[in-house]
Amino acid sequence: MERECTAHQGVSCLSDARPQGAVVLFDGTDFSRWQHRGSGAAVQWELADGAMTVVPGTGDILSLDNFADAFLHLEFRVPDMPEAKGQAKGNSGVFLQGRYEIQVLDSYGWEVPGKGDCGAIYNQYAPLVNACRPPLQWQTYDIVFRAARAGDGGAVSEPARVTVLHNGQVIHNNVVLHGPTGGAMAGDVGAPGPLRLQDHRNRVQYRNVWLVHLPVSGSDVYGPQ
Ligand code: MG
Repeated sequence: MERECTAHQGVSCLSDARPQGAVVLFDGTDFSRWQHRGSGAAVQWELADGAMTVVPGTGDILSLDNFADAFLHLEFRVPDMPEAKGQAKGNSGVFLQGRYEIQVLDSYGWEVPGKGDCGAIYNQYAPLVNACRPPLQWQTYDIVFRAARAGDGGAVSEPARVTVLHNGQVIHNNVVLHGPTGGAMAGDVGAPGPLRLQDHRNRVQYRNVWLVHLPVSGSDVYGPQ
């Protein structure tokens, strides 16, 4: 599903074209790289028109692929729920490694979004700016994630960090995460984890999900002259 960079359909140009080496987690055709969280059973979300839609009550889903440091891209669309308020308005979430939630919500038009609004690192960091589009428009997250470093005993020597662009605007600039967010999956924070998409009982949609596994570091020698 390669796209030209024309900003059509409300999608930012930043990562419409996948980088070489990207692992496509969802291209709109099937759930072959996903499972139901908890049971490991088949995903029960809807699949239509190149997108997946949360079916309320069917549970969160996890990518089969786990990742450590990574560059991720996805697109999401929140439903139009004019009567709903706050956390009940188009809520879902993108959990990095199953443990750090970047909020998905209809926060369009808020002058000063808070720590629970769209783009927030849930209850840790509000987005720097409100980059939201109105409901029913496709939006993008581009995420550069640096996983936590931990020793054999699980002690964290370096917490995770994340930079997030929302519709091409920087909303988190290399922030240090204060550990997993609420509702995180159990486990060693130094271990790789899946991408997790949240069923918060609203019919949020996702499409065009991919990631690039990043090396932990580059070479430690001076390059060729
Ligand atoms: Mg959420």
